[in-house]
Amino acid sequence: MQKEKAQDIILDLKTRDCISHESRVFSDGGYVYIPLSGNCTPVVPGTEVVEIEPRLPLHQPLPQAIKGSYDRIGDIAIIKLKDQQRAADLGNAIIESGSGIRSAWLDSGIHGEYRTRQLKWLAGDIKTIAIHTENQTRFLLDISKVYFSPRLATERMRLARKVRDGEYIIDMFAGIGPFAIIIAKLRNVEITCIDSNPDAIKFMEESIKLNKLKGSITPMLGKAETIMPNLPKADRIIMNLPHQSMGFLDIAKASLKDDGTIHLYIIGSVSETEEKMEKIRIAGLAVTDKRIVHGYSPAESLVSISLRKTL
Ligand code: SAM
Repeated sequence: MQKEKAQDIILDLKTRDCISHESRVFSDGGYVYIPLSGNCTPVVPGTEVVEIEPRLPLHQPLPQAIKGSYDRIGDIAIIKLKDQQRAADLGNAIIESGSGIRSAWLDSGIHGEYRTRQLKWLAGDIKTIAIHTENQTRFLLDISKVYFSPRLATERMRLARKVRDGEYIIDMFAGIGPFAIIIAKLRNVEITCIDSNPDAIKFMEESIKLNKLKGSITPMLGKAETIMPNLPKADRIIMNLPHQSMGFLDIAKASLKDDGTIHLYIIGSVSETEEKMEKIRIAGLAVTDKRIVHGYSPAESLVSISLRKTL
């Protein structure tokens, strides 16, 4: 059909549910081609039904099965699959799906002191910097230089709601500061955020600027074990360094007020977690809450534990 008539006809076909989603509407040489579904025909004079090669939709819907098989940080997809070809196909499908993802990366594990991802580019733009929004809070980060997990969004909000105005908090392994920034957005508190990765501190400072906070955050570059003894005692201490956090319990306890709370994150199987509970008791701390945040491997989970001093 000719272009001038196209809008009315598309509207008519849409109201009769006659447009097929397996191809797309396109124009060529002053004519508009509309893919028809079933036995529908346009009723307007000046139109005709022709058989041509379908044009694929610009945005392919993602198959249900692959939704959730990747993590999204801003407009970047992070895929954890052993089969690189499947990962690349998934990356392309995500980008084509119209989800707003512009770049896809293969993540083959978190490593080193800074807990950064081992990444390989799969599809789309070669970009590693993104602005990620979570709980109406914005974070700027480079996925290749700092740790960040979007899977902790619910846990961060859960913890933030426990905090009361006026608290002094230390985040010992703060990364780009997602726990602290969400807490300070919700509550009028003072938080010291320590991290040994200079890039984490840089992106934390940028992320603080992106949000309107009720509380204040002081970023500190360095090792928690060196900085903590020089800080005032805290009402709350956050310890999100799951593979090593147990080794820092004594340092955290020494910096905690008598009625303060430690939020400890550990990774382990059920039996390993029980072993750690025993060590926690021996260290003079009592468990006041324990919950699984998410699965980590077939046998292990990330576990969130709240602790209080007993001695
Ligand atoms: N809490 C942040 C989050 O949830 O996104 C980051 C957690 S990440 C698992 C652990 C962070 O601890 C990394 O950013 C790493 O650079 C930092 N880190 C490792 N050892 C440290 C230490 N001894 N003192 C201070 N920071 C440390």
